[in-house]
Amino acid sequence: MFVVMRAEASEAEVNGVKGLILAEGLTPFENAGAARTVIAVVGEIGRRREPLRSRLEAMAGVAAVTAISKPYKLVSREFHQDNTVIRILDTVIGDGSLTVMAGPCSVESRDQLLETVDFVVAHGANVIRGGAFKPRTSPYSFQGLGVEGLRYLAEARERTGIPVITEVMEPSQVDIVAEYADILQIGTRNMQNFSLLLACGRAGRPVMLKRGFGATIEEWLMAAEYVASAGNGQIILCERGIRTFETSTRNTLDLTAVPLLHHLTHLPVVVDPSHATGKRWLVKPLAIGAVAVGADGIMVEVHPRPEEALSDGEQSLTFELFEQMMHAITGVHAHVRDLHGDLVPTDDAAGNGRA
Ligand code: PEP
Ligand code: MN
Repeated sequence: MFVVMRAEASEAEVNGVKGLILAEGLTPFENAGAARTVIAVVGEIGRRREPLRSRLEAMAGVAAVTAISKPYKLVSREFHQDNTVIRILDTVIGDGSLTVMAGPCSVESRDQLLETVDFVVAHGANVIRGGAFKPRTSPYSFQGLGVEGLRYLAEARERTGIPVITEVMEPSQVDIVAEYADILQIGTRNMQNFSLLLACGRAGRPVMLKRGFGATIEEWLMAAEYVASAGNGQIILCERGIRTFETSTRNTLDLTAVPLLHHLTHLPVVVDPSHATGKRWLVKPLAIGAVAVGADGIMVEVHPRPEEALSDGEQSLTFELFEQMMHAITGVHAHVRDLHGDLVPTDDAAGNGRA
């Protein structure tokens, strides 16, 4: 449940509510909105629900106590109506602008990374991607350059002023990745690695959580809730395709997820058409589709010579294709951005469960 404070509630009254929640062994999460403060009560409330609700309702400064109908709380739109906006250096994600995350699948060498970065940044990318620790299906495939790759990514950021995102595969890597990168990426294979989610939640950097290839939207949001419950609300969701009966593409891109997530959560949503399709010629049409349905950004793989790539060459865009895609999605974004105005839930906000 969450406690809505009166617009004129004092700091002492807000602290009084938080104190009572803490005294019950529960955790208060404060969302200081422009109009009023809302405090989520998170934890195993059980049979204390009704007595606790009555006590909170009677406290000074409290306007209402309301149930959150979804199993995820902090990431739900019910708790937090305004969109979460993430700012890193000069890049803003989730404010209605279009974020383009681009770079190679893997950092293969300093030259390969910087050549790619110079091109994509000159053509409008505002986040640099590149894997240093690579989750590969085969143990015999290229596993990434590790810390050496992180150093090249940090150099790319110094050179361009553009923030860097890279994948972290296990809790023991979180500190070193957070030292070099601006955004921590949790990959599809790790979406339900709960110790990794919590470690990333504590790392003090924005996190991009890719959808598990077999995960429902609710499981995905529960995974995001783990990150938020560890104190980090700076979360980006990335739809990257799910596994279905279809084998003609690497995965099946679920574009429905984009408006659905905007309805259910305040977190920004990015689409990765590279891993979704596995084929470079399908990346542009699906990037266009993602922007048309209201994605806050896209993530794509780009390589100077995809035929030489050490990973995911078939889905990596050439420089020429990246430029063509940028031209297309920039035009689409200019047309659609005003069409996606009202994302706040209306029809099922009352829900049927209880927080
Ligand atoms: C990636 O973005 O490099 C990656 C491995 O993606 P995913 O986890 O979606 O497969
Ligand atoms: Mn890849």
